[in-house]
Amino acid sequence: MPSELALPPLSLNTATVREQWNLAQMIEACARHGIPGISPWRDKLAELGADRAAAMIRDHGLTVTGLCRGGMFPALDAAGRRAAIDDNLRAIDDAATIGARCLVLVCGGLPAGSRDLAGARAMVHDGIATILEHAREAGMPLAIEPLHPMYAADRCCINTLAQALDLCDAIDAEGVAPRADGQPAALGVAVDAYHVWWDPNLDAGLARAGAHRLLAYHICDWLVETRDLLLDRGMLGDGVIDLAALGQRVRGAGYSGFDEVEILSRHWWSQDPDTVLSTICERHLGCVGKPLL
Ligand code: ZN
Repeated sequence: MPSELALPPLSLNTATVREQWNLAQMIEACARHGIPGISPWRDKLAELGADRAAAMIRDHGLTVTGLCRGGMFPALDAAGRRAAIDDNLRAIDDAATIGARCLVLVCGGLPAGSRDLAGARAMVHDGIATILEHAREAGMPLAIEPLHPMYAADRCCINTLAQALDLCDAIDAEGVAPRADGQPAALGVAVDAYHVWWDPNLDAGLARAGAHRLLAYHICDWLVETRDLLLDRGMLGDGVIDLAALGQRVRGAGYSGFDEVEILSRHWWSQDPDTVLSTICERHLGCVGKPLL
């Protein structure tokens, strides 16, 4: 009979309480709630300063499971694309300063007024190819996050795990095979339950990625009556994603990191943030912490 609870460590993606707290408050709250990981967004990091944030995160014993986010590569002209590259290089440096496990890339959608989806995807390829060497030198893995196709126009034209892995293999051929030292590939993926739960080819993608390209795992829930395409993500257990089964599939493919909770939600932003965090901890145990089969 199974008796062990298989409960992976939690990480707080700071978007979850971004309207209530600054980064210093979030760091203290993670420690207070026994949440051992944190994944800051860059606006909050900039407010506190990367050096101060790094010291505070270290003092509180937290693991930085990622920095959100780089990306947003497509632009109408060369100057715009160059500005995006420069911003990504700074993001890599900030991620290294705070000791993040990866820099998450939300790759960008169509430039304003454009209908050239293939062109936007080519710009994403070229942008990642341009920054990868700097990321390698900084020892900072880049995690492409495929987003649900409903965001293809405005946020991310990389929409399935297979598509993200095609980019990885095209740009980082070295990373197709696991490294001999067991370290992550220079380029991999961030798998977000909200964006991939529906994908009939998900298991093939997870197996193809393997432990070395599975750099982050984000969780929240899909609400059947979604009222806002961006800001109505569900608390764990309030929607239709089988987070226990999905987590086992991700881990079965070799992922051994944190469960990073990322809930962009006007509802949860209107709640007391300590209540949000205690709800996350309870729901994580209830939804994910099921006995090993
Ligand atoms: Zn995510």
